[in-house]
Amino acid sequence: MHVFTTNRDLLDYLEAFRLAKNTIGFVPTMGAIHTGHQALVRRCAAECDVTCVSIFVNPTQFNDAQDLSKYPRPLAADIHLLNESGADLLYLPREGEVYPPDFNAIKLELGELGTVMEGPFRPGHFEGVVTVVHRLLDIVQPSRLYMGLKDYQQQTIIRYMIKQLAMSVQLVPCEIVREEDGLAFSSRNVRIDPGLRSKAPEIYKCLEAARKMLVESTAQEVRDWGKNQLDAIGFTTEYFELCDGMDLQPVVDKDIHNLIVACVASWLGDVRLIDNLVLKGSLEDET
Ligand code: AMP
Repeated sequence: MHVFTTNRDLLDYLEAFRLAKNTIGFVPTMGAIHTGHQALVRRCAAECDVTCVSIFVNPTQFNDAQDLSKYPRPLAADIHLLNESGADLLYLPREGEVYPPDFNAIKLELGELGTVMEGPFRPGHFEGVVTVVHRLLDIVQPSRLYMGLKDYQQQTIIRYMIKQLAMSVQLVPCEIVREEDGLAFSSRNVRIDPGLRSKAPEIYKCLEAARKMLVESTAQEVRDWGKNQLDAIGFTTEYFELCDGMDLQPVVDKDIHNLIVACVASWLGDVRLIDNLVLKGSLEDET
């Protein structure tokens, strides 16, 4: 795997592949590579001629300075895991490469996609995500962009950005990869207090139970149950939302939506975990 730290070197390397009309696949990450990231990289490598992964801990998407400073940065292990997963090149830029002094961030009105769920709890987060993903796409110019459904609202917003700006890249949403007990892999899992770790799979259990419950109950009954259930176990839940899987708006009448997704953000000790599960329909059928 080649490692490039400057845009110039990355562009020079990719030029030959572009001329040969090869498919360039791109997997943006913030590092602390785990099995979930590896699945994205493996899929990208299986479907594209060149697999480019980026590691950039983007300061503009952190609304909490402590969260940014505590973000793990195990570079040597990351390089090993990416190599093992079939990445051809790693783009590892310094901040000045992504955001040069004359950088002008794209302005995209997110409307209600940005005000629901994560929106109120992480002000400015999605603006930061749009800024960095747009900038990275501009630099790498891939044909395919691989993103995890673990961050459901994020991938919906990026799909919206691609459509609004008529970008030519194809978004490939990838299934959530979970640990054996059901906890979704996340770079934050290593920070879960060992004494609380056994409670972590309850999020997925609640999501699964919510899927069964929705058959007989209203969306409001399910969201109330989910939040209360998690809080009773010892979580502090910010939201347990049932939203339309396309426009992310809260579901009132479950019968008029083709795609319903339950999305959760909940604190376990001092670690904030997010997860989601499709309760009705399938994203593939809608996109
Ligand atoms: P991050 O490094 O957290 O920004 O994540 C980089 C990419 O990996 C994003 O597209 C995430 O949605 C995706 N990702 C993170 N965790 C998982 C997981 N457990 N399963 C699938 N994709 C994931």
